[in-house]
Amino acid sequence: MEDIKNIENIDSKTSQNQCEFCLKEFCNKATLIRHRKTTKSCLERQGKSDVAIECINCKKTFAMQYYKQHQSKCDTIFEKTKTEQKQELEKLNKQNEKLKNELSKLKSELLSSNNKIIKLTQELEVLKNEVSQYKNNINSLEKDNEKLKYANELLEKQNEKL
Ligand SMILES: [Zn+2]
Ligand SMILES: [Zn+2]
Repeated sequence: MEDIKNIENIDSKTSQNQCEFCLKEFCNKATLIRHRKTTKSCLERQGKSDVAIECINCKKTFAMQYYKQHQSKCDTIFEKTKTEQKQELEKLNKQNEKLKNELSKLKSELLSSNNKIIKLTQELEVLKNEVSQYKNNINSLEKDNEKLKYANELLEKQNEKL
């Protein structure tokens, strides 16, 4: 009910921006509102002396008498942190970009290595075939050699008889 009375009072110019708790006059509505929310003596009159205020930066709550002191400190820290985070993010983005490039380079190297391995495997296969062919040739030459030895022995025996 008291609030309604106060709103009615706004009609008269003198009390337009007057605090209803401590009766101080203010030059505009915004100042009055700030006064009501942040002035310790006024909050005490309102029975809110131990009201907790939430910091817009860090979301921690503070009793009124500590809030202003905290706010200026927190503003500085918060701005610094924001700048640092931005720089950190830029750094991370650059690193990410670099890593992406390295990854794509490694991928193409891997692909080229795979192709080399395939080519080498094919060459190895060809060489294996050649070796096995040589082995067959050697076997067949050894057999021929065996036959020639035997024929030679026969010839020598015939020669001895003559
Ligand atoms: Zn007041
Ligand atoms: Zn804070």
